[in-house]
Amino acid sequence: MTIGDITLSFDNGPTVEVTPLVLDVLARQQIKASFFVLGKNLQTPQTQALMHRAAGEGHWIGNHTFTHSVPLGRQTGDDVAQREIGRTQACLEGVVHPDRLFRPFGGGGVIGDHLLSAAVLRHLVDGRYTCVLWNSIPRDWAEPDAWVETALEQCRRLPWALVVLHDYDTGAMVHLERFIERARAEGARFRQDFPPDCVPLVAGEARADMTPYVAAAAGAD
Ligand SMILES: [Zn+2]
Repeated sequence: MTIGDITLSFDNGPTVEVTPLVLDVLARQQIKASFFVLGKNLQTPQTQALMHRAAGEGHWIGNHTFTHSVPLGRQTGDDVAQREIGRTQACLEGVVHPDRLFRPFGGGGVIGDHLLSAAVLRHLVDGRYTCVLWNSIPRDWAEPDAWVETALEQCRRLPWALVVLHDYDTGAMVHLERFIERARAEGARFRQDFPPDCVPLVAGEARADMTPYVAAAAGAD
């Protein structure tokens, strides 16, 4: 069995503990990736510098909410989109990808109608955002020393894997370079763009039915 294409993404950073290591590995391996950052993590000069370093090295920066607390489809209130998405976007000045990349969070990486609310979707459409989902979650946060095998397994089953990893302090990213080398040994080609199936909204335009990702009513489970 061989591995096809792989796109790497790193969520929930940047952090001074882990993001530099990830950037060093990606530079050494000549891979461009995407970083979906949290607004709350961009409140110091050090983390802002890391975001600018990532962008300067050719990585794409996306919005992954401000607090990463409750999935947006489970929150009520008119100002959720602004508080979580708008406020984070304001922290991305100078590094915003032209397609305004946004990734919702699922709680354990689950995709479902808890990801967005109708009001949040409206905010994304009006703001011409691109909604970037995923198809590979090796749960690096839960299995910091075992995720490489899981990730390789998932990549073997997908023609083009969009892998979610995390650049915060679990210890998992010490295995990043081993994952990349093993995947390449099985034929993997790393690329920066996203599999179309994982991007249901592009610059505010729906490319797929969005209803599977939108809660039926605000606050609904
Ligand atoms: Zn996340």
